[in-house]
Amino acid sequence: MTRPLIAVAALGGTISMTPGGRIEDGVVPRLTAADLLGELGADLPMDVRAATLAGISSASMDYATLARCLVWGAEQVADGATGLVVVQGTDTLEETAYFFELAWPHDDVPVVVTGAMRNPSLPSADGPANLLASLTVAADPRSRGSLVVFNDDVHAARWVRKSHSSHLEAFSSAPAGPLGLVAEGSVHYFHPPLPRPPALPLADADFSGLVPLLEAGIADSGELLSLVLAGGARGVVVAASGVGHVSTGTADVIAAAKVPVVIASRTGAGPTFRGTYGFHGSESSLIRMGATMAGWLCPRKSRVLLQLLLATGASRSRIEAEFRLRGDLDR
Ligand code: ASP
Repeated sequence: MTRPLIAVAALGGTISMTPGGRIEDGVVPRLTAADLLGELGADLPMDVRAATLAGISSASMDYATLARCLVWGAEQVADGATGLVVVQGTDTLEETAYFFELAWPHDDVPVVVTGAMRNPSLPSADGPANLLASLTVAADPRSRGSLVVFNDDVHAARWVRKSHSSHLEAFSSAPAGPLGLVAEGSVHYFHPPLPRPPALPLADADFSGLVPLLEAGIADSGELLSLVLAGGARGVVVAASGVGHVSTGTADVIAAAKVPVVIASRTGAGPTFRGTYGFHGSESSLIRMGATMAGWLCPRKSRVLLQLLLATGASRSRIEAEFRLRGDLDR
């Protein structure tokens, strides 16, 4: 039997951060992909090819870096890779994983995104274990789509989010739960992933322009949204309260908006609604104004989807259709 060939792209993050000259200066990205793999020893049950494509904190992740990683991954697949592992910081890892869920064109080649909560200079640094578990999942022929492997759990990119700022158990797929876990060097899948809608082609994508994410809250006059729209935003995601509600002031601004406005729930779990409440600023009133509901997609993932759609010139009706397809599950 041929051994799996896994391509590993390192982009930076805590997993690669070590102290510099003065300890009080803190850790910064220094380790390469080869350094990270070197920690695992030579006795891996798969072949591995690795490249360091960036060395950044994931707060600075951008579409140029992600597009480079996507192209590099596709080249590796053309050259025989059967799985891809992307190593980066945990802070925006859920967005990177969702980017690959949307844009990775190879249905039968999984992409596994991972990182670490404890940097290599700390006791019980989790980077090597997370990387090894990710290689294991990427090499498993049952693995599909974009996955996050962290602390031995296997999460679907669609659901995963960073839900703790410092614990090793930093990622959650609530309310859906993880797809499986890794134990004794093998993958135990509990659920098959949902079928993946077709990948969004990114050739000629233009990521220029702003697509802000604003959160609704009390004492919200709508002034901030109005400033953002006047500033030339290409589209906006509103992290609305509850099932997709905003203040009357914000509703007035949305009613007059000339660019796509996506309404997601800020609650962290549960879908936006379509037709239960009727007040000005309710979900049904916002739909009548032309807003797109994100369904089960959280505000951050909604922003990634909206950015990709706008970057590829999608029309309003296509944006609506894509959010229904990817965010509404079976409704
Ligand atoms: N704390 C972060 C991490 O876990 C830093 C980053 O996201 O780059 O890697």
